[in-house]
Amino acid sequence: MGHTVEHIYTDNGKANAVRIKNQKTGETWVETADHVVANVTVQNLVKLVADENQPQTSHPIPGYKRRVDKLPSPWGAFVVYLGVDASAIPTNCPPHLQFFYNYDGPIGENNSLFVSVSHPGDGRAPTGKATITASSFTDTQIWRHCQDYQELKQKYMEEAIARLSEYFYLKPETIVHQEAATPRTFVKFTARDEGIVGGVGQRLTTFGPFGIANRSPIQDLWLVGDSTHPGEGTAGVSYSALTVVRQIEAEE
Ligand SMILES: Cc1cc2nc3c(=O)[nH]c(=O)nc-3n(C[C@H](O)[C@H](O)[C@H](O)COP(=O)(O)OP(=O)(O)OC[C@H]3O[C@@H](n4cnc5c(N)ncnc54)[C@H](O)[C@@H]3O)c2cc1C
Repeated sequence: MGHTVEHIYTDNGKANAVRIKNQKTGETWVETADHVVANVTVQNLVKLVADENQPQTSHPIPGYKRRVDKLPSPWGAFVVYLGVDASAIPTNCPPHLQFFYNYDGPIGENNSLFVSVSHPGDGRAPTGKATITASSFTDTQIWRHCQDYQELKQKYMEEAIARLSEYFYLKPETIVHQEAATPRTFVKFTARDEGIVGGVGQRLTTFGPFGIANRSPIQDLWLVGDSTHPGEGTAGVSYSALTVVRQIEAEE
């Protein structure tokens, strides 16, 4: 917590250390290790091992980098977080809902919204209040290259709330709090490359044996998290970590 791994060092094709930075003080130091387990996206991993002196011309694992560069563009997420009066929630509202608005439109960009709703007594909201969290996939590049980020964020938020209002009773008097997260938010708070979410995406070319392995081409450098099998979700990423623990134990 509060620290960033800036670089993974390799020697003779083996990972042996990481450089850590204290985000508050700016202090950096090198920590040696027998094994390095990276819990980052595969795109971040490629950057973390890159030759710092010649990042453009040489890479310690060029074939792996080429493979990652060729992966289909990963998605980002746009998320709206609402704190509302309980009267905004319809009776018998399920805890999770999936809305899809225009069947000819994209599965993302607010045309589809995955919604989670708190229930009385579940600890997510005070008595008489509730939370609504709605997320949609979004193209990270829209957010990276937009001219007016705040304007775009406001537009997406208003559009999402307007769509949610078709089901929930959302009026100025029932919305207590509202905020949104964009790919730029995910960059800032999770350090995920471009703010991408969801791993490499499940396609035939990236599924199972064709997916990104936990074992990297660099000896004793392991990758866990949603880029690796079985992919996105807290259960999935925990399984990837368990797999690595078992493999390291089996080697020793
Ligand atoms: C909007 C949304 C809703 C979701 N809902 C669900 C859900 O309901 N159920 C579910 O199971 N899954 C859900 N997911 C998916 C789930 O959140 C992800 O699959 C999971 O968090 C991925 O875990 P991870 O460990 O791979 O990566 P992360 O969760 O990104 O964890 C990596 C951690 O490493 C840190 N880190 C990154 N780089 C560095 C560095 N260089 N140095 C130090 N620390 C670093 C990050 O800050 C982060 O804390 C959702 C995802 C999104 C975006």
